[in-house]
Amino acid sequence: MEAIDVKNAARRFGADLIGIAPLSRFEGVGQQNDPRSIFPLGKTMIVIGRRILRGSLRGVESGNSAQVSFCDFGFYMLEDQYLAKTTYDLVLWMENQGVEAVPMFGYDVDATAGVTLGAPVSEGKPAPDVYVDWKLAAHLCGLGEVGKNGLFITPEFGTLQRFAMIISDREFTPDEIVTRNVCNGCNACTESCLLNNTLCKKCTQGAVQTDFGRFHTVDKISAACGRACLASLEERGLVTHKFAIPSRKISEVK
Ligand code: SF4
Repeated sequence: MEAIDVKNAARRFGADLIGIAPLSRFEGVGQQNDPRSIFPLGKTMIVIGRRILRGSLRGVESGNSAQVSFCDFGFYMLEDQYLAKTTYDLVLWMENQGVEAVPMFGYDVDATAGVTLGAPVSEGKPAPDVYVDWKLAAHLCGLGEVGKNGLFITPEFGTLQRFAMIISDREFTPDEIVTRNVCNGCNACTESCLLNNTLCKKCTQGAVQTDFGRFHTVDKISAACGRACLASLEERGLVTHKFAIPSRKISEVK
């Protein structure tokens, strides 16, 4: 099994994005967030992504619809069902060929920092649960970068994707880390925020407030800052997956 086989299989199972990195790229990450704390004999991080359906945002953009479509097809169902199924199928395919792989949901490590659920099993070990920073993993796997608004941005879909992680015991040819900046500091995100980016938990401009299952994080992809970012990326021709109708900034929403 080579990297190209894994990538082809991932796309067959529905992945739109896939990147590979050796776990050595996580050197310096604290053991509480290090994938090697979960699988000490692991060698490779594989990050797979599925795109958020562009149409799931249109209701929020028009200001004339609730977030139901986005929450279903851009967030919860996408992460919990479609992406989970792609992850399951890929890991199953790898295991059927004798390659071990650990599937992981992408939690927000900042939100998990204060939530220690157990004690270390012995001195020197991290406390459960160990959470790997999916944004860092996706960056190290060459898929993109974190923008000024905190959202992960890829050259393919801008802000519109969700990720899962897989740690494998097999070495694969890695992808190069993306070094060119997709976020150019245009400030469209900060200028679109009616709350000066300080009160996301009170956002009335499209953010999704999550519950304990996602550590009460605020998902900002559909918020004014996320939509303004997507519009800015599209206007600058930085998103390769294009549509006939461009995104509209919050100021243009009727
Ligand atoms: S809107 Fe501009 S500054 Fe903000 S994250 Fe996107 S590209 Fe970066």
